[in-house]
Formats: sequence, structure tokens, C-alpha cells
Amino acid sequence: MSKLTQRKSMDYIKKDYVRTRTMPGSWYLNSYTYKFNITHAQPFLRKLKEKKLVGNECPSCNRIFFPPRQICGKCMIKPDRWADLRETARVATFTVTYLKDPETGEVKERPVVCIRQDGSDTTNIAELAPEIDFKDTYIGMPLKVHWVENPQGGLNDIEYYDVIEDKAKELKTKKV
Ligand SMILES: [Zn+2]
Repeated sequence: MSKLTQRKSMDYIKKDYVRTRTMPGSWYLNSYTYKFNITHAQPFLRKLKEKKLVGNECPSCNRIFFPPRQICGKCMIKPDRWADLRETARVATFTVTYLKDPETGEVKERPVVCIRQDGSDTTNIAELAPEIDFKDTYIGMPLKVHWVENPQGGLNDIEYYDVIEDKAKELKTKKV
């Protein structure tokens, strides 16, 4: 048996602490404010308004992030370069959601896809064109960005992804 499975089979023993003192008190979570800094994404958002895609690149591991990241989680340093990306992408992985129409009660199956923009090394959750049946979705499916009419400079400027022709051919391998 490996160490990992051995550990799993053991029962969890909760450490028992001696309670020495208790104090009344409350913790107001709504008194906390949290500021989400997106200044690192400004060039990216400006480009979106022009219907152009860029990702930022880590100078150490050369990974390109789309959408851009403030810090590379592997190298713990700030990406410092911008790289132009194509409008095409591929389905990296997908799942299906079931949406119930509140009026008719009809349940609709919709694919939820994770895409990898061509030229980038990361994935992002996206929407597929509404006419796409989830049964036709597959990993590696080629896609192209479908822009909104008037881009505002945000990730919502990508309305959804259109499916484009798959030019991949099957390899002719020898049958054994
Ligand atoms: Zn890195």
C-alpha cells in the first residue's frame, strides 16, 4: 500500500485542547473592505475596446496569460511583457449545465466551456454560440471570438465563441 492510501484509511483524530478562558465578542465581516486591483490589466482592457487580444508573459517561465495575471503563480514574479494573441481558440475542457425555463419549465442543456486562446498557456471560462448543441462539443474544438457590437473595454466584449471548421485530419497509422 502506498503512503497516500495508507494515510487516507486512517481515522482523523481531532486534537483536544483544554479550554482555559472564553470571551464574549462578535466579528463584523461587513466592516472589512477589499480592493481588487486591476491596474495591471489596463492595456489588456484598452485593446479589447479595439477588438484586439493580448496576454501578458512571465519573463521567467515564458508562459502567456489570458486573461492577464498580476503575478506568475509558478515564479512569483510580475509578468512584464505583452503578447498579441489570435482571435482563435480551442476548447480545453467542457461540461454541461441544465437551465430550467422559469415559464415553460423546459430544461435546456447548455455547454460551459473552458477555452485556451491560441498563443496563450492558460484557460478561461467562455460561452459558445447559442445554436451549438452540447453534444457536438469536444476537446480541441476550434473556435473564434464573436465580439459584441460596441466593445466597452471589458471581458464581456467577447460575447461568445463561434465554432469554426476543424481542419485537423486523422493520422494514418498502421493497423497492427
Ligand atoms: Zn513564470
